[in-house]
Amino acid sequence: MKKPEISFDSIPSSAVSRTTLKICLKCAFDVFTKQLKLTPRTAYSELRKHTPEEVDFSGAATSRPHFLAESNLDHCPYCNGPKRWFAEFHALRIDAHPSFEKERKKLWAALRKQSERFALWSPERTKMQIFSEWLERLNRSLAFDNDGWLLNAAVSHIKRAAPSNDWDTILQNGVQRVQLSRQVEDSWRYADGWLYVSPALYGDVILVQHLLSRSHQHGGRTFEGRLTFQELIRRLRRIGYFDAKVIDAEDLSEGFEQAIAGLVDSGPSAVYYAVDRKDYLDKLKSVYEKKRDK
Ligand SMILES: [Zn+2]
Repeated sequence: MKKPEISFDSIPSSAVSRTTLKICLKCAFDVFTKQLKLTPRTAYSELRKHTPEEVDFSGAATSRPHFLAESNLDHCPYCNGPKRWFAEFHALRIDAHPSFEKERKKLWAALRKQSERFALWSPERTKMQIFSEWLERLNRSLAFDNDGWLLNAAVSHIKRAAPSNDWDTILQNGVQRVQLSRQVEDSWRYADGWLYVSPALYGDVILVQHLLSRSHQHGGRTFEGRLTFQELIRRLRRIGYFDAKVIDAEDLSEGFEQAIAGLVDSGPSAVYYAVDRKDYLDKLKSVYEKKRDK
């Protein structure tokens, strides 16, 4: 019986990141049949259990027979085998937040029922690690050659700070500007292409921009122009950020530390991975059947 397709739409898209990892089945089979001298049948049953590790997906230590889909290769980088040997794993990473934990648990319960297709795991992470990894992913996704990234980074942070499935509808006409406002009742308000944000949220936005651009040429860029570290803290003070966040710091660097700590603490607290192995299992089967029938 065909199982129903599971939808991931209940999870806010700002909390989800997807990676596709390719595997060369020629390399994979060769390890078992040529190096370990196993029969194709045993190799097949071993390979059916296989799921790549997080370091393969993240690119931190992607190793044979895996390679990242971004490379768009026609031939295997290890054995030069043609594309027909390739299969794909799709990893979905969720940075969990209490505001949608109920939906996340429900989704996981459904995924567990298809335990052969979906591999699930939850790596240990501190909130600081989760924040840094998000910043790194954001960094990679932005084009820093013009100022457009400032707005994209701001909107990414605002969505992340208030994870919701409604953002796509609310912002369907686009965001032309993120504007500091002392009049917003909650933390933000959207009207006619402008996203009005509170001093606390606006301060977080320029902090994120500062952190993102620090590692780039002409670093320290924000909506408030290019700021040195001291100027950033003074600007945060002037817009009322420290008052809004109830930060009472003796000096500049202490203020900065507390601001980052607050930003990190309000973010996601756990990471969940679901790896869809469907394409892999299907292709593995067809490769095996061809080998067997030879
Ligand atoms: Zn290969």
